[in-house]
Amino acid sequence: MQKILNYINGELLEPTAKHYLENIDPSTGNVYSHCADSDAEDVELAYQAAAAAFPKWSETPATERSKIMLKLAGLIEANLDALALAESVDQGKPLWLAKNGEIPRAQANIHFFATAIEHYASEAHPMGNHALNYTLRTPIGVVGCISPWNLPLYLFTWKIAPAIASGNCVVAKPSEVTPMTAFLFSKLCIEAGLPKGVLNIVHGLGPKVGSALVAHPKITAISFTGGTKTGAEIARVAAPMFKKLSLELGGKNPNIIFADCDFDKAVKESVRASFTNQGEICLCGSRLYIERSIYDKFKEAYITQVKKLKVGDPLLDDTKVGAIASKMHFEKVLSYIEIAKEEGGTILTGGASVKVAGRCENGYFIEPTVIEGLDHLCRTNQEEIFGPVVTLQPFDTEAEVLEMANSTTYGLACTVWTENLTKAHRVAGAIKSGIVWINCWLLRDLRTPFGGMKQSGVGREGGWEALRFFTEAKNVCVKL
Ligand code: NDP
Repeated sequence: MQKILNYINGELLEPTAKHYLENIDPSTGNVYSHCADSDAEDVELAYQAAAAAFPKWSETPATERSKIMLKLAGLIEANLDALALAESVDQGKPLWLAKNGEIPRAQANIHFFATAIEHYASEAHPMGNHALNYTLRTPIGVVGCISPWNLPLYLFTWKIAPAIASGNCVVAKPSEVTPMTAFLFSKLCIEAGLPKGVLNIVHGLGPKVGSALVAHPKITAISFTGGTKTGAEIARVAAPMFKKLSLELGGKNPNIIFADCDFDKAVKESVRASFTNQGEICLCGSRLYIERSIYDKFKEAYITQVKKLKVGDPLLDDTKVGAIASKMHFEKVLSYIEIAKEEGGTILTGGASVKVAGRCENGYFIEPTVIEGLDHLCRTNQEEIFGPVVTLQPFDTEAEVLEMANSTTYGLACTVWTENLTKAHRVAGAIKSGIVWINCWLLRDLRTPFGGMKQSGVGREGGWEALRFFTEAKNVCVKL
């Protein structure tokens, strides 16, 4: 059976303790590979390799760094089918989604930062004829990147691309639930000629590898995407060491549908925003607030479309909802459906696990589930479920829906459906979230800052923000 090895100092290495974890295909429940179960010793080896590579890499001209990264982006494109298949088997997402969405977007991440670094400039502030200030931005050194299981290669590359483009060396930890694409990516790094030690990938468990990375005294910046609870733990450890932190955390995103929306478009896109990737995207809209005058009509049209979503084998083209990423998460999502029932919710459709016949009969599948009749302050509407479970709730006024939409501790994303331009801008301004989509969902421009408000995150990634995060700014003031 295939072994997923660490990538340290340009080589694929076994973990020092030679321990491995079972890597399970969630669509079948079968073990399909073994993943390095690394520990602090492996993190130290990776750190040493990164520290040794740093002086040369940080001095390598941006154009040269860019060339290597562009080669890497090209290799992702050339290996699209293999990477998409690995992503689908590892995570449970439909293969077509990995092929058309996630893997091309991972390629775009590398391509974007490879080209951005060539155009990156820092500021100058002349003080008339007296003095000139200019900002020097230099790479930090060895940085840590930790990514989750829901969009494995996309979020992994989102972190490491700006880090290496700006001249840092990286110790990265992908989620142990979905390690395969990061492993294949490490082989592409070797093929692309990325100098040894620039990127090091240490596989294994969060509390072993992730925490060793965060606690490492010489790794002085951490870019993390994952759950809010884990983010809090990372901040607790890193803050007394004064590490630079970027935390991209959970969400509980509202989707606000006003009566004056483009009805058909709002229904269609709301279904997509609710259930793409089994609802396992931090930006999915899981709380639908619908203006009362169209509530019944919208509900009927929405449920009709949700019922058409085929749950099944992720490798089949007509599957719309694949498997939940792990048994543990499958059980968590089902437990929230029970909580919703206890809280008085009515299940309009779904509400149970699904037995998929054939090779996937032991997989972790859940029906797209729509619930109504819950208060906006109940647990179902306040806690992140991160699965194919959404709630519907009517509203009467703009003030009421804003209060409900802003009532959670999260503030990651929001979608607003209205054809009224003034209202759209007014609501966008009043919503407390890092991104607001008007009449669309998941449209992303990599140049824009990305991140959450409140407990959805600290700091902003994307575009120049990410390149700034991975550099130290120094002001030089010259008396003229
Ligand atoms: P987790 O927080 O459980 O894990 C994220 C990563 O952190 C994994 O690699 C995990 O390793 C690692 N980790 C776990 N414990 C520690 C620790 N003590 N120290 C350091 N690292 C640790 O999140 P999930 O993987 O469950 O991902 C889902 C979450 O990610 C959701 O809350 C989702 O909203 C959020 N997310 C946020 C996004 C955003 O942009 N804001 C985007 C995508 C997801 P291991 O897998 O071994 O536990």
